Parts: sequence; structure tokens; C-alpha cells
Amino acid sequence: MPAKEALSCQDLGYTYPDGTVALRKVDFSIQTGDSVALVGPNGAGKSTFALLTVGVIFPSRGSLRVFGMELSRHTLREIRRHVGLVFQDAEDQLFMPTLLEDVSFGPLNQGLSEDQARQRGLESLAAVGLEELAERFPGHLSGGEKKLASLASILSMQPQIIILDEPTAGLDPRARRKVIEQLAALRLTKIVISHDLEMVLDLCPRTILLDKGSVWADGDTTEILSDKETMDSHGLEVPYSLSPDHRHRFPLAGSRHEAEHKK
Ligand code: ADP
Repeated sequence: MPAKEALSCQDLGYTYPDGTVALRKVDFSIQTGDSVALVGPNGAGKSTFALLTVGVIFPSRGSLRVFGMELSRHTLREIRRHVGLVFQDAEDQLFMPTLLEDVSFGPLNQGLSEDQARQRGLESLAAVGLEELAERFPGHLSGGEKKLASLASILSMQPQIIILDEPTAGLDPRARRKVIEQLAALRLTKIVISHDLEMVLDLCPRTILLDKGSVWADGDTTEILSDKETMDSHGLEVPYSLSPDHRHRFPLAGSRHEAEHKK
């Protein structure tokens, strides 16, 4: 059976009220179950795209569709049932006195009863391994816990598509690994915005390279990220595990995971 289209952009453009053109003419389509990275230098338009997917802002031109439904003020409520955006800054997502209240907030807003919302909240905390912190004050969690908690606050609304803006930014290696493992285990359509290209290699078979509001490459992650000329010309670097240096050190390694075991 052919995969169903989850999200697509047709001729999508966005200009901020001050005249800054953030997205010019973006076209791509993402199928259900895909895990796609959106990479590009600062100012490329990645966060603007993320804000469009949940209707914080609306297209200035073209359209954005979720399961075939065009984003507009009329469809916003329905679209937000399908799409969840995990902001880069967890503080934007966590604002209640306890973690459980934070992760129950979305389901309550969707119209669930208090008991149902609490149940959903507890399930989403369990899904990211934070159930024991349910009664804690979110402001006092560690950076990694906050990232997972903000992920849980979106999962509790049971979106089918999840957009993650820099999920590993600012984390130490252990917390970063934990977040990557949790994301890998999620059976959802994922769009991951990140400068952490090693994570992108781990999580996303497909990459879309955005720069100056346009798509410059869209395809196989390893192919795009190992293309030095393309990466250099868009202010990015080939990740170490794909660099000639690394390949020289581990010539027989079939994958970077094998290479790590041989160290
Ligand atoms: P990225 O997330 O890839 O760093 P952004 O989507 O944040 O890029 O920004 C794309 C462009 O839009 C940049 O030129 C940025 O300066 C501009 N921009 C972002 N937010 C605003 C805003 N609120 N008002 C005006 N311009 C903005």
C-alpha cells in the first residue's frame, strides 16, 4: 500500500510583517512514518517553517497541508490535533507547578476530563522515562529532563506528526544520547530541525537542506551530509563520522556504529 502523505508544502512562502522574507518558495512532501531532518544555517527559515506547521503564523503565499487539509484559520484547530511542535527552549513549554500538570495541560485543552488528561499525562511521562518525576517542579529539572518533559507535554496530545526544534541543543553527552534513544523509539512522523548532524545521521534517513528560505537539497541524509561542496556553500560542515579523516581511520567500517566498537 502506498504511504499516505502526512505533510506537504506547495510554493510555500512567508514574509514577516517588517518585510523580511523568511521562506521563498518551498515545495516538499513528507509521508506518514517518515523521519526527516531539516538542516541549514542560522536564518535559513527553519523555525519559521516550524511556526507555520502549527499555525502560529500563516503562509504569505502557497500552502501547507496536513493529511491533505490546507492550513488556515478555519482548519487550525483540526490541524493542531495532528501536529505537535516541541520548541527549542523547554521553558516555553513548561509553565505549571508540577510536571504532571504540564503534561496534562494539552489533553485538558483538547476537552478530556481531568482523569483522562492525568492518565494521558502519566502515559506520556512513562513513554519518555520520567514517570517518577511527575510531582516535581519543572523549573528544577535538569536540561535533559526538561527536553524530555517538553517532548512528553506534546506526546500527551497524541499528535501524528511531531516537529522538534533542536532537541539536543545544550545537552551533555549522556542526556543527548537519552533524548536520541527516546526519539528513535517514537513511532510517529518526525521532522527534526537540528545542527546536530550526528543525531540527524542516527535518526533521519532523509534530509532537507534549507538556506535563505529555499530548499537546496532534499534526499538521502548520508549523501547530502557527506557532500562537502554543498555543505560548505551553505555554512555547514560534513559531520566527523562522514569525513574523509574518519573514513581513513576506519576503512573497513560498514557503519559508524561498527566503527565505534572497533575503537
Ligand atoms: P532559522 O530557524 O533557520 O535560524 P528563522 O526562521 O528563525 O531561521 O529566520 C529566517 C529569517 O527570518 C531570518 O532572516 C530572520 O532574521 C527572520 N526572522 C525571524 N523571526 C523574525 C521576526 N519575528 N520578524 C522579522 N524577521 C524575522
